[in-house]
Amino acid sequence: MPIEKTLVVIKPDGMKRRLAGLAIDRLENAGFELIGAKVVSVTEKLAHEHYALLKGQPFFPNLIKFIMGDYHDVSNRRVLAMVYRGENAIKGVRAVVGATSPEDAAPGTIRNAFGRINSKAGYYENVVHASGNAMEADREVKIWFKPEELVE
Ligand code: GDP
Ligand code: MG
Repeated sequence: MPIEKTLVVIKPDGMKRRLAGLAIDRLENAGFELIGAKVVSVTEKLAHEHYALLKGQPFFPNLIKFIMGDYHDVSNRRVLAMVYRGENAIKGVRAVVGATSPEDAAPGTIRNAFGRINSKAGYYENVVHASGNAMEADREVKIWFKPEELVE
């Protein structure tokens, strides 16, 4: 099985609800290795780069605001960005995180247990971002981390 790297971001809802430690614990127990981590205040530029492939979706404007922390704590905007490495890490981390919508996420996943849909505002509070495939993982790790920030 290939050794892969993948990006995980504890989103502003996860930070506000103090779920970062729980997510790290689950990923650690699943056998993935943490090789980079930092707290980031997401700029509009970074948000647009990160979600470039979703531009044009109806929820895109909300998504940009969400990842920048506009809906959770504007005075303390932050996410925790991490890179995990391991055998089949991309699919494996997604299996720990769960499907995009908390309503579809399988029992036992982070998004099933802790995610919710904010129906009033119309966005998903799904706690964690994880790269969806090899192309995304490669792209996203490069957007968020300089090579010297990863321990390899
Ligand atoms: P992910 O890889 O599972 O995070 O899902 P995507 O890459 O498809 O979408 C990125 C993020 O956009 C998701 O994590 C959600 O926060 C949001 N999103 C995706 N699909 C929808 C949707 O149909 N409605 C809303 N409101 N948000 C969505
Ligand atoms: Mg995705």
